[in-house]
Amino acid sequence: MAIQFNKEVWSRLLHRTKKTAAEAAEAAKTGAAIVGQKAEETLACAKLRSSIRELKGEIDNQLKAAGELVYATHKGTPSDSEALQTILERLDALNRDLSDAERELKILKGALFCDVCGAENAATNVYCQECGQPLSRL
Ligand SMILES: [Zn+2]
Repeated sequence: MAIQFNKEVWSRLLHRTKKTAAEAAEAAKTGAAIVGQKAEETLACAKLRSSIRELKGEIDNQLKAAGELVYATHKGTPSDSEALQTILERLDALNRDLSDAERELKILKGALFCDVCGAENAATNVYCQECGQPLSRL
């Protein structure tokens, strides 16, 4: 009888240990997934910050080139207006890319943008602070 009792206790204990181990493994998996997701987000943020830096550098270069052409004209050496136009169009494209990258970085960091008016809202807002429309969370 004593052996049977011990067997039962042993089996219950074993079952509980297995269950705890399984739960621990599950919790570790969830934890790893969260850490992985955070790392991915951080990597995406770092990549965006790096492209924002590059875009700003390129915008500075193009502004300098445009300024040199305008100044040369002022000093009596008329510059090729097509060359200036090309630089200005490049600047338009760079500024669009820059604001897209900045917006994406803000979204990654939790900001919400209104689908109706485009205003930036804090992550805790339910309604747009500019137009009052409900904000959608993706
Ligand atoms: Zn709005």
